[in-house]
Amino acid sequence: MRLSDLGEFGFIDRIAAAVKNAPSVVISIGDDAAAVKPKPGYLSLLTSDMLIEEVHFTRAHSDPRTLGRKSLSVNLSDLAAMGANPSAFLLSLAIPDTISLEYLDNFMAGMLERADQFGITLIGGDTCASKGGLAISVTAIGEQLPERVVRRSGAKQGDLIFVTGTVGDSALGLELLRRGDRTGTAVMRHLDPEPRVKAGIALAESALVTSMIDVSDGLLADLGHILKQSGVGARLDLGNIPLSDEYSRQATLLTEDPFSLALSGGEDYELLFTSPPHLKDQVYCCMSACNVAVSLIGEINGGEPRVAIVTAEGTEYLPQKRGFNHFA
Ligand code: ADP
Ligand code: MG
Repeated sequence: MRLSDLGEFGFIDRIAAAVKNAPSVVISIGDDAAAVKPKPGYLSLLTSDMLIEEVHFTRAHSDPRTLGRKSLSVNLSDLAAMGANPSAFLLSLAIPDTISLEYLDNFMAGMLERADQFGITLIGGDTCASKGGLAISVTAIGEQLPERVVRRSGAKQGDLIFVTGTVGDSALGLELLRRGDRTGTAVMRHLDPEPRVKAGIALAESALVTSMIDVSDGLLADLGHILKQSGVGARLDLGNIPLSDEYSRQATLLTEDPFSLALSGGEDYELLFTSPPHLKDQVYCCMSACNVAVSLIGEINGGEPRVAIVTAEGTEYLPQKRGFNHFA
């Protein structure tokens, strides 16, 4: 069967049939709008991300199932960075006629598998034809108590800066994909990132963090967002930036500066956050309970909203590039 046999409404029915319902969803796919009911006293948090073919992804790099997973994961990462529990999402697709129904079925299977894993339900969206590439837009909804929501703007002088996991792998993976590699942990981290949902919620609900962001534009750029919105500066300790074994082995072979992908590469979907120094041990404890590695990489200071990167020898390190910007 082809998409043209099913038509727009047949395709939507096919999606609806694959979706499980959830108690917070009052109205799901099939009406003009969906309705969800957050728990009493909770805020609804909403976030949206687009994935455009040849801007964010290349069809030849990924199988559709993995692309479906990633399209949801990047939104879950944004909710995690606010400390929100994900509950529901909307999916809009612009589909070129070069895409088969089998491709779409696999894409949906991957996305709904990811949704199940995090207990989140598809409640609606939009479907149309595309004269260009495949365009995917996901809008995710989460909830959290107002006093537990974590903003970018709360970093204070003296706070410690932490990052989960390792950085630079996704950018390394993309570079390897461009060179024809299809396997390895860095490639997988680019194609199928793991959003830090549990860790984000745990940090927020334990009131351990003053600010938080997910690393999507690159460590320096995303730290820059925290600094700008908090009106503070920061020192980053280059020697403490967490790098994976694969990164340490391969990055130097691909780039002149071994730190450039780790500092400026995007799409790691790790959590970057600040905490007051007296909560340091509790941060380590909380992350270990979530099975997530965490590194102390610097400190917030009261200066200009600028990052000073310091090497292990105590000299200042000047990066070549500061992060990803669509219009730069
Ligand atoms: P309208 O014409 O009012 O925009 P549509 O025909 O576009 O309605 O959509 C019908 C129903 O199907 C709506 O509930 C909408 O949310 C849902 N829907 C459309 N496309 C998708 C999709 N890709 N994924 C999930 N639900 C969808
Ligand atoms: Mg519509």
